[in-house]
Formats: sequence, structure tokens, C-alpha cells
Amino acid sequence: MNKTRLVIAGGGTAGWLAAYAIIKRLGKVVDVTLVESDQIGTVGVGEATIPTMKTFHKMLEIDEREFMQATQATFKLGIYFDNWGKVDDSYIHSFGVIGQGTWMTEFHTYWMEAVKQGYKGDLGDFCLELRAAEAGKFSLMANNTPVNYAYHLNATAYAGYLRQKSEALGATRCEGIIQQVALDPDNGHIRAIHLDSGQVIEGDIFVDCTGFRGLLIGETLGVAYDDWSHWLAANSAQAVQTESTVAPPPFTRAIAHPIGWQWRIPLQTRTGNGIVYSSQFASDDEARQTLVDHLQGPMITEPRQIRFTTGKRRECWHKNCVAIGLSSGFLEPLESTSIHLITTSIMRLMRLMPFDGNMALAAERYNMDTKVELEAIRDFIILHYKQTARNDSPMWDFYREMDAPDSLRHRMDIFAANGYVTADNVNLFRVDSWLQVMMGQGIVPGHHHSGAALLPPQQLLQQMHAIRDKVKGNLAAMPSHADFLAQYCPAPM
Ligand SMILES: Cc1cc2nc3c(=O)[nH]c(=O)nc-3n(C[C@H](O)[C@H](O)[C@H](O)COP(=O)(O)OP(=O)(O)OC[C@H]3O[C@@H](n4cnc5c(N)ncnc54)[C@H](O)[C@@H]3O)c2cc1C
Repeated sequence: MNKTRLVIAGGGTAGWLAAYAIIKRLGKVVDVTLVESDQIGTVGVGEATIPTMKTFHKMLEIDEREFMQATQATFKLGIYFDNWGKVDDSYIHSFGVIGQGTWMTEFHTYWMEAVKQGYKGDLGDFCLELRAAEAGKFSLMANNTPVNYAYHLNATAYAGYLRQKSEALGATRCEGIIQQVALDPDNGHIRAIHLDSGQVIEGDIFVDCTGFRGLLIGETLGVAYDDWSHWLAANSAQAVQTESTVAPPPFTRAIAHPIGWQWRIPLQTRTGNGIVYSSQFASDDEARQTLVDHLQGPMITEPRQIRFTTGKRRECWHKNCVAIGLSSGFLEPLESTSIHLITTSIMRLMRLMPFDGNMALAAERYNMDTKVELEAIRDFIILHYKQTARNDSPMWDFYREMDAPDSLRHRMDIFAANGYVTADNVNLFRVDSWLQVMMGQGIVPGHHHSGAALLPPQQLLQQMHAIRDKVKGNLAAMPSHADFLAQYCPAPM
């Protein structure tokens, strides 16, 4: 049986994740060649992840300790948002489950009913991951309760780690600049890519992982890009690394400013920082100054400029080319969803791999599923900007007053009216995520489901206390994040 020849253009996180997953799981029937250019380099950011990465790593039999040591990784229990709903206000979007609901109504409506009856406790008391993030604690399990977590990692080291694993399994790496992409005149499919060295690489399927440029999908095949900057106006970022001055917290920090927002991502060996903003509302100098003024430690690198357009490639699979990573679109890094989208794109491609050579149906299915997935994540990110009381700058005025997509408008309206959090199967973000962000950004439901009021008040309180006490007990059993890292996966300093 002839192997399918898969050619990956680009060796950033997208390219090497695709190479490793495909050679690992389909290597007996697919040949993998990856082309990258050291001269061009990678985008060099993308260091916060979400819990789905654990599942993907499990599928690839990646050893957690080995991976964490190789990438100087830390654990992430959520994102700490400062100044988003209001200046000087903060909240955590944790990866945890909040309390325990029933089929009829979620736990938060029980809490709302208890508060109505005089209960004084915070909703965060019912979520272990949230309280552990605040306390700077971490363990994989607390007593016998699994903890839901993700990672912060060094993106350059991660690509290198995956490269080494891919090559060990037989993936071929070609160094060079892609100068020309040759098309089949009969059907417009990509036939080969030509490198500056003169080398020609032919293939059956081409995966475009060339980053924002979209060299194959955009520049060569002319697939349009749907621009979402009327909802997500950011088009610029500056990234800088600093020395760590405090023990790494188990969360990403997202600090809103009048002109944009700043990330802080703790690794074992340094901290990644950056500012995301729109040239519509701030100059590069202003953004740089805001970033530098709010750094915690001395800079190790100079701030590096990155430009992008939020949106999505109209078709991520076109002819025999599949765009994965930044070439397929970019929302913005607020909820650390890009690497997750790379992993779901890779899995979708692996499931739809057209071994019969017929691309059209597979492409159609792939594009439909990608669209639904991206639009759901897009709405979740827009929520953070749209739902705000901030009125201290033109940027916040723009976001507060813009029209949200109908799908998001509906979610916000129904929650504001009666506390109902819409759950659906296509949404990456589940009820607890929507709840934490909607409440954190300042929506206060006018009513809540009456199911909780059916319980006798004493029983309601007893059940609440039982859950709260379990969280407290589990929290007490957890070591500090720094101590856990030091014994579980210390990275060479
Ligand atoms: C400001 C910012 C912050 C982000 N933060 C996060 C985050 O916290 N979490 C997250 O999940 N994601 C984040 N992302 C997204 C994340 O960085 C990307 O999804 C991830 O790095 C994948 O990038 P990529 O591999 O698609 O592209 P790149 O890293 O740009 O790689 C492109 C590759 O293509 C090669 N290439 C390009 N042109 C040619 C050519 N002509 N010839 C040969 N090779 C070529 C390059 O050499 C390189 O190897 C962030 C993105 C930005 C912009």
C-alpha cells in the first residue's frame, strides 16, 4: 500500500504538533515531511493553554513530567482578570466545576436562592480550582478529587521538543525558504513546494502552518479571510520576557488597561508578558509604555512587535490544502484558545484523512465543523469586552456600545433575565466558564430558577455547607504550586 504523502509547511507550534500527532498515530500509512525556515522563525508567543491539552497529550503518549521539564512549564488553574468589568475589580475564570447542580438547574441557582435567604458566602467557595489559584496551591489530586488544570509553557522549547519526538518516529524535516508553490493545472491542487535551495517537495496533502502569512491557503490558493475586527478590534501586540520576581502563580493574569490588555504568564525560569491593543485606540509607543510600566521584573528581552487581523479563513480546507494554526485564523489570546484550536484541527484532519484521494467531501465537513467551533469561541471572547461598565477610554466606549453577535446577545440576555446559562454540545466553554465570566464582568441576574426554593431552607444550607467544607478540606491538602513544581517536574535553571 502506498503511503499518503503529507507535507507540512511551517514549523511553529502548529507545524510540529501536526507532524508529531500524525506520525505517531498514522505513521504506518502517512509519510510526514515538514519544511521550516530558521531565517524566518516562529511567532514565538502562545504560552498559555487550556485543560484540553492534557487529553491531546494523553492521545500522543506524552509524558507529563518530561514535557514540563523540557518546556519549563508551570500549572494553570485559570485566568485572573483585573479591571475588566470595572476598574479595580477582579475575578478568576477557573477551570473548575462550581458546586453540584441537578438536571433541572445549575448549582449557582441554589447559591442565589441561599443568598436571597440570607446566606453570606461567595460562589467561589464552591470551586476548588478557583480557591487553589487564589491561594497559589496546586496538586494533581486533592485528597481523592482530581484537579482540572492546564499548562504555561515555553513555546520555542515546545516546538523543539515536538520536533525531536517527530524526527525520532521518522518525520522528515527540510530546512529552507519556500519560494514557489506549484499547482496542478487540471484541478488547482497543490502539487509541490519549491525551496530556495532548489529542492522540490511533492505531496498528496499540504498542511499550511506558515503562520499569519498563510502562504499556501491565502497567498497561493487565494482563500479569503473573514475579518472580525468589528467585534475584536485588537490588531497588534508587543511581547517581552522578564525575570521572575515571585513564585510562579498557578494562573495566567489578564490585566485590562484603558488602551488594551496585558498578559502575564509564569514559567519556571522566566515570565512571559505582552500587551494586546488596537492601532485604532493606541500608538505602538503608548502601548509599549503601558506594558513596560506594568511589568513585575527586569526585562530579559526587548518588546517585540506582532501584527494580526482577528478573524477566520473562509475555508480552512481548500482543494488539497488544510490550514492549521495562525494561517487558519486568529481570535486573540485572551482565553488561550489558539493551541487548543490547533489540536482540534489536527484531530479533525486525522479523522477525515482522505485516503481515497477524494478531498471535496472531507473538506466540506471539515469547514462546517471548524466554523461552528470558532464562532462559539469568538462569542465567549467578545463577552469579556462587550459586558463592561468601563467608560474611561475610547476603546471601552467602542466595545461597550458595539453590536454583539446575535448568538452572544441571546446568552447574555437570558442570563441577565433569569440566571440561565446556555449549554450546548458544540461550545468548548461549558456552563461554569460562561457563568464565571458573565458574573465576573458584572451581569447580575434579575431572577433565578425556583427549583432551589423547593428545598427546606435548612436542607439547602446543609447541602451548601457540605460542598463548601469539602472544597476547604481539599484545599488544605494541597501544597504550594512552587513546592509541587519543585518536587514533580523541576526544570533545569
Ligand atoms: C500576541 C499573541 C499571543 C498569543 N498567546 C497565545 C496563548 O497564550 N495561548 C495560545 O494557545 N495561543 C496563543 N497565541 C497563538 C499562538 O502563538 C499560535 O497559535 C501558535 O504559536 C501557532 O503558530 P503557528 O505555528 O501557526 O505559526 P508560527 O509560529 O508563525 O510558525 C510559522 C512557521 O512557518 C514558517 N514559514 C513561514 N513562511 C515560510 C516560508 N516562506 N518558507 C519556509 N517556512 C516558512 C516559519 O519559519 C515558522 O516555522 C498567541 C498569538 C499571539 C499573536
